[in-house]
Amino acid sequence: MAKKQFKAESKRLLEMMINSIYTHKEIFLRELISNASDAMDKLYFRSMQENLGITRENLGIDLAFDKDKRTITVTDNGIGMNKDELENNLGVIAQSGSFKFKQDNAEADKEEVDVIGQFGVGFYSAFMVAKKVEVLTKKYGEDTAYLWTSEGVDGYTITEAEKDTNGSVITLYLKDKTEEEDYDEYLAEYKLRSLVKRYSDYIRYPIRMAVTKRTPKEGKEGEYDETTEIETLNSMVPIWKKSKQELTDEQYNEYYKEKFLDYMDPLVHIHSKTEGTSTYNALLFIPKKAPFDFYTKEYEKGLQRYSSGVMIMEKCGDLLPDYFSFVKGLVDSEDLSLNISREMLQHDRQLKLIEKSIERTIKNELKKLLNNDREKYEEFWKNFGLQIKYGLYSSYGMQKEFLQDLLLFTSSAEKKYTTLEEYVSRMKEGQDAIYFASGESVAKLDTLPQTEMLKDKGYEILYLTDNVDEFIVKMLVDYDGKEFKSIQSSDADFESEDEKKEKKEKTEQNKDLLGEIKKALEGRVADVRISAKLRSHPVCLTSDGEVSLEMEKVLGAMPGNEMKPKADRVLEINADHPIFSKLQFLYDNDKEKLADYADILYDQALLIEGLEIEDPVAYCNKVCALMTD
Ligand code: ADP
Repeated sequence: MAKKQFKAESKRLLEMMINSIYTHKEIFLRELISNASDAMDKLYFRSMQENLGITRENLGIDLAFDKDKRTITVTDNGIGMNKDELENNLGVIAQSGSFKFKQDNAEADKEEVDVIGQFGVGFYSAFMVAKKVEVLTKKYGEDTAYLWTSEGVDGYTITEAEKDTNGSVITLYLKDKTEEEDYDEYLAEYKLRSLVKRYSDYIRYPIRMAVTKRTPKEGKEGEYDETTEIETLNSMVPIWKKSKQELTDEQYNEYYKEKFLDYMDPLVHIHSKTEGTSTYNALLFIPKKAPFDFYTKEYEKGLQRYSSGVMIMEKCGDLLPDYFSFVKGLVDSEDLSLNISREMLQHDRQLKLIEKSIERTIKNELKKLLNNDREKYEEFWKNFGLQIKYGLYSSYGMQKEFLQDLLLFTSSAEKKYTTLEEYVSRMKEGQDAIYFASGESVAKLDTLPQTEMLKDKGYEILYLTDNVDEFIVKMLVDYDGKEFKSIQSSDADFESEDEKKEKKEKTEQNKDLLGEIKKALEGRVADVRISAKLRSHPVCLTSDGEVSLEMEKVLGAMPGNEMKPKADRVLEINADHPIFSKLQFLYDNDKEKLADYADILYDQALLIEGLEIEDPVAYCNKVCALMTD
């Protein structure tokens, strides 16, 4: 029979396909197995309609390879194809038989017509590894079998052939070995076995292969008896399709470790079945520890995408928002439309719906963990809290309502983690703001002079120690109507009305002294003021305006040499401290010495804040001069 040409548009598509659509050549096996599985679904479906008595147990796929002939065969006992179907299904690319079948049976029970392939190109992926493909097939209930043969783009032939049973045998004649590709790798038991495990583990029919078992020969060291056994390579029922009651934590953990290559059990697993606007099964895991590359650019977020038990995408980033990028797992949905390649999912509405739903599921699960297992949640927070914070920050606060309840900060009260809700519930009568301080460590922040008075009043302070913290607080603005207020900002007014009045009076009385000190610190501070934040300490440093001292530090440490924003520093002095009378005395008697005192006090305020002093030597000399006075 003369060779038939593929239709013109098909030819181009085929070339494109062979060369570029799929990123991994190895997926050819997944495609052929999926087709075989579809073919059996179709037969089973027909049997149900026409009472043919075929049960799923009668159906299966056989996989074999021949090293000498360099062939791989995939055999199924499904519906098979007649001549017309061969012509239509394999002669015209992108005309999917499965798709047509699905449409014809749109009314039928969905569960039974659950066919993966929707666009006809999968079969041609065989040409990525094969120089020649043969399809020997016989349609169920018909007498004649046919052999379809093709060597790729130049066309195909169909001839009558001999075959006793219904179904198809697909034979791939592997391409010759090249420098880049060693196609012989597919001629090995372990390779085929691992491909089945990887991509087709949950195909619902058995995928069988003859495997060689070696048993040591008795009494003969190093010699083996070899026997051949038929083994089912796939596990058939996906773990996520089983009911939660059937599964133990152990099973979930083992699955996670095996599939996501972690040596530790996950911290949490989430198994959910969702029905409604989007129907899917999801199995999600939160690892115990962040992977080593988690906070690097190399880390790629995503969930595995399955369609009816077949993995169609290893990492679908669209299913996870950035702030949950640490989540591992998979989503299996039957009705998600696929475009030409199973690897390239349409970014459609359905995918968005699933993402939204998954996002909610994870959030609820975290909230539950926070409420029911605080210890575990804190462990989670130590590993991934930063990611949640970055998420909040990079979404410009749009996820505020959604994420703010997941945040934990260390509180001054017992140096323990607290949620914002807990903080607010403990706020004292008369406290109208959520106080925070930001710096390098909890220990350092806890010694800040400004904390003393607040602690005396029984107010709690949140200690922010991550670089991103202050930006987050800025973004949140308030929580439950309570404003965030930095105790390192000049306008934090945690003094009482009386104290405020007193401060005003003292400022008025000491106007000239403050002016003199400000003059001495010209160019270094924006202002010098009497403080109402201090108890036993002489000075503290605060800032005016939007840029805080901590932000100045964070921004200053970032790469780039453009002008970095600076904080407007304010030196606050405790008018009740003995040093203040000394300053008053010097103002009247020795202005030069007053300038030295101003320098020293400013440098001390810098040191307390954890900031560098400009001239440590000058500072030391001035202190030594005082010591030897
Ligand atoms: P699809 O995405 O539809 O599976 P393919 O290119 O993989 O596209 O296959 C094209 C069509 O060829 C299928 O829809 C199906 O009708 C038919 N086909 C492929 N393999 C088999 C098989 N093993 N048994 C029966 N029909 C098959």
